Amino acid sequence: MMARHTWLKQTPDHWPNRHRTILDSELCSEELEHRSSVHVTVTQQRESLVDINPFSSRKTLLKVTACVFRFVNNVTNINKSMNLYFTADEVQNDEYFWIKYVQAEFYSAEISALRSNKQLRNSSEIKGLVPYLDEGCLLRITGRLLEAELCFGEKHPIILPRRCKFTELLATREHERIGHCGAFATLTQLRKKYWIPKGRQLVKTMIRICLICKKYNAEPADQLSGQLPRDRIS
Ligand SMILES: [Zn+2]
Repeated sequence: MMARHTWLKQTPDHWPNRHRTILDSELCSEELEHRSSVHVTVTQQRESLVDINPFSSRKTLLKVTACVFRFVNNVTNINKSMNLYFTADEVQNDEYFWIKYVQAEFYSAEISALRSNKQLRNSSEIKGLVPYLDEGCLLRITGRLLEAELCFGEKHPIILPRRCKFTELLATREHERIGHCGAFATLTQLRKKYWIPKGRQLVKTMIRICLICKKYNAEPADQLSGQLPRDRIS
């Protein structure tokens, strides 16, 4: 699951955590301070320590990410004991790691424009969302301010690209959390924290290929003929 990990064959001095060509310069100073236990490791080549492609669950992805970060951090700090349990903060940090990773991958031009106080290109798919960078350097939308009853996450959802494996895993997780409800309910649930441009298409496609939804939707017809006694059918 670890991608292109040729660094593992080298001495620890050559591992990514030591000689990061990371996005440090792109991160806010507050974020750098907050990051003491996170050790975000995004290289300029957008090469991740974890290959997201084989994962079918957000939960497993975040656990593996936490394991990899702990492994790298503990090797460079040999006196630190390895706790087998993951804290809620750790899971949250790992989720932020992936969000920043995909935002940097898909919205680098927008992030750079916002950092330089420049206008976003007209061709940007998120220009209409009036995005901004929060204190943790996450790209959020400015809109929905008038809906006073909403909490901060709902007023300013985190922007995620549609054509992205991490976004698919998040959408699947939310779809499962609400008991495999339909596209509208899944999208509403997602928008409590995330905003995906053209997200409805992603959700519809995801539900179309969801095995549980397929089974559930197919059952009534199958059961009707399968459960009726022979004499009732003839
Ligand atoms: Zn489903």
